[in-house]
Amino acid sequence: MIKEVANKIYKFRLPMPGRLDHINVYLLQENQRLALIDTGLPTPDSWKALNDSLEALNLHFSDLTDIFVTHSHPDHIGQLHRIRKHAPTARLHIHRVELSVLQERSSKPEEAEQRLLEWFLSNGANEMALNPPSGLFSPTPELGTEDRPLAGGEKLVLSEGLEGTWEIIWTPGHTAGHFVILNRARRILLSGDHLLGGISSNIGKYPGSTVDPLGDYMNSLQKINELDLQEIFPAHGLPFKNYRERLAFLLEHHKHRLEKMYAAIEGQPVTATEVVKSIWGDRLDGFDRFLALGETLSHLERLVLEKRVIPEQHNNLTYYRVA
Ligand SMILES: [Zn+2]
Repeated sequence: MIKEVANKIYKFRLPMPGRLDHINVYLLQENQRLALIDTGLPTPDSWKALNDSLEALNLHFSDLTDIFVTHSHPDHIGQLHRIRKHAPTARLHIHRVELSVLQERSSKPEEAEQRLLEWFLSNGANEMALNPPSGLFSPTPELGTEDRPLAGGEKLVLSEGLEGTWEIIWTPGHTAGHFVILNRARRILLSGDHLLGGISSNIGKYPGSTVDPLGDYMNSLQKINELDLQEIFPAHGLPFKNYRERLAFLLEHHKHRLEKMYAAIEGQPVTATEVVKSIWGDRLDGFDRFLALGETLSHLERLVLEKRVIPEQHNNLTYYRVA
């Protein structure tokens, strides 16, 4: 369950239900500081696994000095609140864009729900509007005086010297405020959900997303391509080194998918839900269908921005047609 993947960098594997099966959270043990990267889902299993992992290293939550949340999905931020109760002095690092999305949702929960409902209905997903997936929204973390919302580009010195310096790189795409953490001297990247070795991250357009999540994601992949890395430690799956190959594969994957979606609307104007059906058929269940709808909309939006596709409103539904 625990693995020292590089000198003083520990990977804890915390369980998750469903296809993802687990999330990797990481612990950086520097001279004076102890940093946790992501927190795990708020489930009893996950909480126990996190406790057991720390205990095996003879550490306590109260030893934590820093907590990084790469983005606000429940498997990454879910246990933050509980951890902070036991680690009251740990500094929280979260991107300010991610924080404002959370704040917006939790300050006006009814509006957020209404927006989600309208999003389903306008895209023709009436079934999902009746039975929306649960657990989508995480509570907003409260910021203490030591906490600083990030913008990207920050250098955080966790111990003296270059080897103890970690850099924040903003990588919007998977979410609007996703970041990765780079150790330039050690050529190590903690990639969160931005770059995974075995699966492609969900790049979807949802209420609260940026205008063009897929375009943002492609640009964020380019940022990684420019780095000289030895190894990548992702939030799901195994560490990997062949990141340039992986980046090329993912860029190709999304280009291919853009053409597939374009082909799905040739002929007659269709809603995003109809595109989901023509690509995935009826084999997706509730949550996967939700992800597929977001993924479809991020690709359709890219095609709209490329002026290859035109969105049109009829009877409160959004249809897409070839330009
Ligand atoms: Zn995620």
